[in-house]
Amino acid sequence: MSPTVLLVEDDRELRHTLSDALTVEGYHVHASASLADARALLAHAAAEGGLDLVLLDLGLPDGDGEHLLTQLRRERTTPVIVISARHGDDPKVRLLDAGADDYLVKPFSLAELLARMRVAMRHRGRQLRPSVVRYDHEGLEVDLEARQVRRDGDVVHLTPTEYALLARLVRSAGQVVTHRQLLADVWGPEFTEHTHYLRLYMGQLRAKLETDPAEPRLLLTDPGVGYRLVEAAE
Ligand code: CA
Repeated sequence: MSPTVLLVEDDRELRHTLSDALTVEGYHVHASASLADARALLAHAAAEGGLDLVLLDLGLPDGDGEHLLTQLRRERTTPVIVISARHGDDPKVRLLDAGADDYLVKPFSLAELLARMRVAMRHRGRQLRPSVVRYDHEGLEVDLEARQVRRDGDVVHLTPTEYALLARLVRSAGQVVTHRQLLADVWGPEFTEHTHYLRLYMGQLRAKLETDPAEPRLLLTDPGVGYRLVEAAE
């Protein structure tokens, strides 16, 4: 069955372009140009039996897309990717912390959008099946069941904190995880302002896992936002 996508975008040209492109890629697309339309389509799609992903613009004629994100997160776990022209780290961080799965700044390429959509949908699937916890990419192998990390076949010894940080990124591989999320999940909710912990431990992880720690290819920085473990190739 083709995945169903709700596209919320008031720019007519972009809405049509994305709608057409996603249809060609095999998605079933519901398009809406306003918050009111999106809410009606959401209720309808839920009744119809499912919605696999929401693409959400922020600046809409009848309000901010963020309201829809907040409402959605109270009711369901459908992945949401924000598509917006708004730059800057503040809105990005706020929306990711509010439960958006990813954030793409316009203009973006269709290839990038499709890749992020695949990750977001797989990620939600993974949350339902926590046993899928292996990562294998560019010589880095992580097995969360065996609690084992290998680099080019050799076992790498990590401290418990280094391991917890890596494991958190593996569980969201391909997606940016905000500083706040990482600090809360690895150190605890009272440590969300201690971003210097992250800089220190990411440095240690990169030194152990990257071929060239100065030019990381696996553990990427999303400046001002968080970190992303590169998506493993299919
Ligand atoms: Ca807009």
